[in-house]
Amino acid sequence: MIIREAKFLMSNSRVDQCPPPVLPEYAFIGRSNVGKSSLINMLTGQKGLAKTSSLPGKTQLINHFLINDSWYLVDLPGYGYAKVSKVSRAAWLKMINYYMRHRENLACVFVLIDSRHEPQAVDLEFMEMLGNEGVPFVMVFTKTDKLSGSRTQQNVASYLQKMGESWDELPRHFITSAEEKTGREEVLGFIEEVNR
Ligand code: GDP
Repeated sequence: MIIREAKFLMSNSRVDQCPPPVLPEYAFIGRSNVGKSSLINMLTGQKGLAKTSSLPGKTQLINHFLINDSWYLVDLPGYGYAKVSKVSRAAWLKMINYYMRHRENLACVFVLIDSRHEPQAVDLEFMEMLGNEGVPFVMVFTKTDKLSGSRTQQNVASYLQKMGESWDELPRHFITSAEEKTGREEVLGFIEEVNR
């Protein structure tokens, strides 16, 4: 897919104030610092589109971007940052659960996973929730330039093996690096496929 235009539309703290659900929507989520903003900027080819945050976990807003006048890209607030209080974690969970259940134009959620780390309970639980709610999702392994190719393959394989313990069918996954622009064609091609 060629990105002709990517523009910021709005930020919301409430799902019912999001843009009208008239276009297919693709949401990006993951633990704070996973590389979500960098990935969004890489995919859209606009360096400053999503803010790479200096204060992880601070913003709890749903950010909508309009791509090629034909689909929404959504930057959801990150989770799992240690310094976030229990209160704001509960508020995050409530908003995200509501979004996942009620956003009728949601076509797919991209769950970002730092390729360097062992499977984390918070990510596994989040994907479990998506599965239980019947929300379509795929996994995106990030920052793979930080590892050798074989190490990335090893980590991804062991991650998927762990997932296989609780899933009959594994979600599709993508290997990416915002730094080296790896996985861009694959992710955008997938969105194009789903949009068709
Ligand atoms: P967010 O909090 O999930 O939006 O993460 P950011 O995009 O702000 O990235 C967090 C940190 O990881 C920043 O220092 C980025 O420069 C770095 N980072 C993000 N993606 C990559 C990547 O693909 N490769 C490398 N080497 N660093 C990355």
